[in-house]
Amino acid sequence: MGVGRFAPSPTGDAHPGTLLAGLLVWLDAKSRGDTVLLRLEDLDTTRAQGSHVDAILDAVGALGLRFDTVHTQSLDKARHHLALDNLAAAGLLYPCACSRSRVKALGRKAPDGGFAYDNVCRGRPLPEGGWRACGENVRARLPDEALRLYDESGLDLSQTPAAAMGDPIVLRRDGVVAYQLAVVVDDAAQGVTRVVRGRDIAPSTATQVMLQRLLGLPTPVYRHHFLLLEPRGDKLAKLHGSVGWRELSRKYDGAKLCGWLAHVAGLTQAPTPTTPDALVDAFDWSRVRGDDVTVRWNGHALEP
Ligand SMILES: [Zn+2]
Repeated sequence: MGVGRFAPSPTGDAHPGTLLAGLLVWLDAKSRGDTVLLRLEDLDTTRAQGSHVDAILDAVGALGLRFDTVHTQSLDKARHHLALDNLAAAGLLYPCACSRSRVKALGRKAPDGGFAYDNVCRGRPLPEGGWRACGENVRARLPDEALRLYDESGLDLSQTPAAAMGDPIVLRRDGVVAYQLAVVVDDAAQGVTRVVRGRDIAPSTATQVMLQRLLGLPTPVYRHHFLLLEPRGDKLAKLHGSVGWRELSRKYDGAKLCGWLAHVAGLTQAPTPTTPDALVDAFDWSRVRGDDVTVRWNGHALEP
């Protein structure tokens, strides 16, 4: 039996885009008879707060998503640190003091919309005391190899991550273990076999697969889904800024929001209230829309 996971960061209220991801993860797992866990990715203590955890749990509960287990990532730091020890023992960690503005000034556009790092600090040694004593960002040296990689939907994720993205930061200078490392360590430790997530994270997959190889961890099946976007200025952004569950819940109960999400996803003919349980039997990825959808919150309703 497989294991799926929904892994939101509790850095704000629960937004429709986050809840869409949770619904699709849950339906993917339950329609296959898999177990599904909720992992609260709260390592970034500058942004994650207990009140945001409550907001996510409230929203997920209202929507009718029941998870087999709930993990709080910050309670698992020991295994993240063990992974850092393993990478250090293999001679793969190095300190990097390059500023964000320096990396930006290089002008190497990365596939995730950011800028690629040029690995210029490779070869610099960690200080005495190793990564624990390092006051700079710590990066992991990836092999300079191309990965040929497709997700389950056929999305081409092929990349030479060391060049396209640059060696990833695995430990921030403030001591927080970085997302790219924590996610691969936790997926493996929790036996995750299927990673279903929004397409915005797809460009990170090659980096994560490289880290899995360096750590001797298995690679799960990946599937990336469409995003809810909102107009912001003259471009579209992930639907995150405008409305969260606290405001939405004045106009939408869980069943109404579930119905709206299912309809936007292409799973139902009309946005009538429903529950995840009622959607499981007929769930199939071939019915889920492929293209992103632009959504507006007009203060009363979500408008696709
Ligand atoms: Zn550097």
